[in-house]
Amino acid sequence: MVIPKLDHFIDGALVAPGSGKYMAVENPATGEVIAQVACGTEQDVDLAVAAAQRALDNPVWRDMTPRDRSALLNRFIGVIQQNAHELAYLEVISSGGTISRIANIDLLLMVESIMSMADLIKTYPFTQSLPAKPLPELTDVKVVKEPIGVCALIPAWNLPMLLFINKLVPALAAGNTVVVKPSELTPQTTLRLAQLLAPLLPPGVLNVVNGIGPVVGEALTLHRGIGKISFTGSTLVGKRIQTNAAASLKHVTLELGGKGAAIVTADADLNAVAQGALFGVLLNSGQACESGTRLLVHESIHEPLLAKLAEVAGRLQIGDPLDPRTSIGPMCHAAHGEKVLGYIRSALEQGARLVCGGERIIVPGCEGGFFIAPTILADCHNQMNAVREEIFGPVLTVIKYRDEAEAIAIANDSDYGLSAGIWTGDVLAAQLLARRLQAGSVWINDWHMLRTDVPFGGYKQSGQGREMGIAGLESFLETKAISTAFQRDPAKKTMTYGVVHKSA
Ligand code: NDP
Repeated sequence: MVIPKLDHFIDGALVAPGSGKYMAVENPATGEVIAQVACGTEQDVDLAVAAAQRALDNPVWRDMTPRDRSALLNRFIGVIQQNAHELAYLEVISSGGTISRIANIDLLLMVESIMSMADLIKTYPFTQSLPAKPLPELTDVKVVKEPIGVCALIPAWNLPMLLFINKLVPALAAGNTVVVKPSELTPQTTLRLAQLLAPLLPPGVLNVVNGIGPVVGEALTLHRGIGKISFTGSTLVGKRIQTNAAASLKHVTLELGGKGAAIVTADADLNAVAQGALFGVLLNSGQACESGTRLLVHESIHEPLLAKLAEVAGRLQIGDPLDPRTSIGPMCHAAHGEKVLGYIRSALEQGARLVCGGERIIVPGCEGGFFIAPTILADCHNQMNAVREEIFGPVLTVIKYRDEAEAIAIANDSDYGLSAGIWTGDVLAAQLLARRLQAGSVWINDWHMLRTDVPFGGYKQSGQGREMGIAGLESFLETKAISTAFQRDPAKKTMTYGVVHKSA
């Protein structure tokens, strides 16, 4: 098998890394080396930022109307559809995500993300004229929304293609140019998409620099030519990025970790909760920031719900992510798998009860992958590390509560605030309960209810700013007020000029 070399994509062309160095990319399901990716350097970042800056000044891009940008974005959809098989395959072998999720959810969300942003910018008020105000003198004022400039997009490895598109589309819709740094673990689909989409764009609008976070990520977040950073990843790195960005006061959007609490009320339908709560925590084998990882269960239904959860979890298929029947694929790499097992062990040491799972599974044909059985831990409490920290694996921690006040207190006692949810028979009461939960998204009787026109982001240490929808577009825009004076005769500007130009 020929191992492909993945270079950078700068100014409309593939570019070898200045260092001449490459590193191995592995298939998480098998451990096989599937590509060699460029080890980018600060100099490679400089090249890409310079290309993106030139593209900002290219009249073809700079002067393109929102309507034309909308039409251009819509053309992305055809490209994705025509190459869907290849993109889905590359995404599975590099990220370990299951083919059924990538084909049924990710690709559709990508297309929808483009469609809704292309629609939005056809009517979004990029220019607004304010009504005239007579004092201190009559002026015309326009408030215009403009691109920020060159944006650094840093998506994570868990949903590489979807996260990349969700950042790229609003950035371009707003008229920016971008430099993307994919995770070194999953660079394939970002590079491939860049090559496929670039012919629709002027050179330099979309650039990709491969490499590791501490080198390429650092260089981008410290670069004075970058105006905005959009990052998805850990809270630890998010804080570092904010510190780096502060040196030149860049705009920053951070989509970070989560520890989603789902409250199950006494009147909830146990069968629906068992299926929904496991969907909430097991999608992408739990490697999703918005997962519902803490299930808060009313004491009256606690034991029957645990039995139901174990029964449903036992039916799930762990296996090769390329097999359409597979529900649970591998962890992104072995070290991460060990970390997840470590959290399970620590919870058991701190008094949790193992309801099911809790171990590594060897999958025939995928012996090199690190698979973990869906794990349910009961008798958990908020002081356990596995309950406080993001595990990012197929692990559900279950906590018993007595009344609503206690449930709210447990749910909100977290450094994170990305997602929360309520499983209930009373959706009206749930509306009030939803208002008490400290989270950017609250889902009632379902999970992962992501819509591309709905703002997504976190309270507290789950992030800053919002992606998707109008908020997502506006996070890539600057605001400028252009004021024109009607009165040109200095002698008649008594209320303003008169303050300085006193008559003798
Ligand atoms: P990181 O936060 O390290 O990685 C996320 C992205 O940030 C990657 O593209 C990474 O690049 C990049 N990065 C790393 N260091 C820097 C830096 N100094 N400057 C700029 N970019 C940088 O997460 P990990 O991969 O270490 O995962 C650790 C934990 O983070 C997970 O267990 C999970 O809890 C959480 N996480 C949350 C995600 C979310 O969706 N919010 C996504 C991923 C992880 P590279 O991979 O090339 O180093």
